[in-house]
Amino acid sequence: MTVYSNPGTEGSLITFDSRYDHYIGGEWVPPAKGRYFENVTPVTGQAFCEIARGTAEDIESALDAAHAAAPAWGRTTPAERAATLLRIADRMEENLEKLAVAESWDNGKAVRETLGADLPLAVDHLRYYAGAIRAQEGRLSQIDEDTVAYHFHEPLGVVGQIIPWNFPLLMAVWKLAPALAAGNAVVLKPAEQTPASIMVLMQLVGDLLPPGVLNVVNGFGAEAGKPLASNKRIRKIAFTGETTTGRLIMQYASENLIPITLELGGKSPNIFFEDVMARDDAYWDKAQEGFTMFALNQGEVCTCPSRALVQESIAGDFLDAVVERTKRIVQGNPLDTETMMGAQASNDQLEKIMSYLDIGRQEGAEVLTGGGRLELDGDLAGGFYVEPTIFRGDNSMRVFQEEIFGPVVSVATFADYDDAMCIANDTLYGLGAGVWSRDGNVAYRAGRQIQAGRVWVNNYHSYPAHAAFGGYKSSGVGRETHLMMLDHYQQTKNLLVSY
Ligand code: NAD
Repeated sequence: MTVYSNPGTEGSLITFDSRYDHYIGGEWVPPAKGRYFENVTPVTGQAFCEIARGTAEDIESALDAAHAAAPAWGRTTPAERAATLLRIADRMEENLEKLAVAESWDNGKAVRETLGADLPLAVDHLRYYAGAIRAQEGRLSQIDEDTVAYHFHEPLGVVGQIIPWNFPLLMAVWKLAPALAAGNAVVLKPAEQTPASIMVLMQLVGDLLPPGVLNVVNGFGAEAGKPLASNKRIRKIAFTGETTTGRLIMQYASENLIPITLELGGKSPNIFFEDVMARDDAYWDKAQEGFTMFALNQGEVCTCPSRALVQESIAGDFLDAVVERTKRIVQGNPLDTETMMGAQASNDQLEKIMSYLDIGRQEGAEVLTGGGRLELDGDLAGGFYVEPTIFRGDNSMRVFQEEIFGPVVSVATFADYDDAMCIANDTLYGLGAGVWSRDGNVAYRAGRQIQAGRVWVNNYHSYPAHAAFGGYKSSGVGRETHLMMLDHYQQTKNLLVSY
């Protein structure tokens, strides 16, 4: 067990700067309007640094830098870009603990997650795209005896990327790795709730890229996000965030006729067929663990399994077991490696979750465990902690239909396979889903029938770089991760040559 010291205190791995400027053209650049905003750690509720408050002028400066850098970066060889990505991956890995503590302090998530999952995954994505870009090949078609069609991959040029606050470093790297590998220059806007760990990352890796290839402008959605997403000088916008914001991004992009990638909200069903608890064995243990994944990352996960569907015939025993299991989730100081659940990312998010706990009760959902704010002592007393909560109700309730984005799961029962599929697909969203059954045929059929971009069968919450990720319905447009992501950051050039 390790308890990392709070940043800036004796023995800590990191001391944050008191103020972070934008990172533009390889330099630290103050905001054009000279304004900064306070950044609060959800661990204690205290402000710990100031962040540049970007506006359209800063976005234009960043785009100037990106446009200046893009042609030369686009002409580098795949091998050169791969080497750069690998150096970034190595630098991150060398600083894994420091970045993990920075991320946990900024976001409130448990350091065992940042150390054990988020950051190793981010490093792996960089290495994956370093390999993928070198392995990418063009295509050649023989049109007739004298004419050949060559297909080349070309970078898009300058692209915009906007990310949310739930996995700041991982979301940044998910987007940056394929874009940079494909030879684009990037302007990235982090979420205003969690900008600090990304600025620490830029301090660590900024020198590994030519100036202007990667620019980071902080600020609020309307002030810095919109001028980026609606800008005529970007060739693509990639966005992760709420579905309502995604609709706006699509409107902006339609004005400029540029491609989009949208990774949006979810209300993922996690389905447990009656054979899961037929035996007291490792499989049943894994299935219970799969149920408690609703509390992973404090439930602030787009694919949070926030609707659990349990077959009626096992509901009583199943729920007794998972309630007991949920009560064993260790909550508290995110910098303690024993902690499984840390703080919600912001006070706004805490209040949103609390309001849904009220809504669920008012709708008549039964609270099986949790249901309130978690009060902690000492310097954690001001932090944003919520108990993992299990509601039991039916799928028409708001707590089953609306994204809460907190450690809250709503449980409904189903009679048979068809009933399960009907409830699972009765949602606006289609991002993730889980299916648990020892019967391979049932699991396969359900996996194919659920309208979601990622269905985990007999596991949950893994995000390998080489598996495509993205949403059906209101959960998004396009895919991230996997080889196909490179296509989303490239143009195809066709040369039709007669000899
Ligand atoms: P959000 O939409 O409020 O903000 C996301 C980003 O968009 C922030 O950087 C914000 O500043 C920016 N933004 C806000 N308004 C904007 C505008 N008008 N123009 C341009 N940019 C704007 O979302 P959030 O609350 O930060 O994140 C939580 C949401 O993200 C949840 O709905 C969650 O499901 C979703 N999410 C989805 C995925 C996925 O891969 N599908 C992954 C993580 C999070």
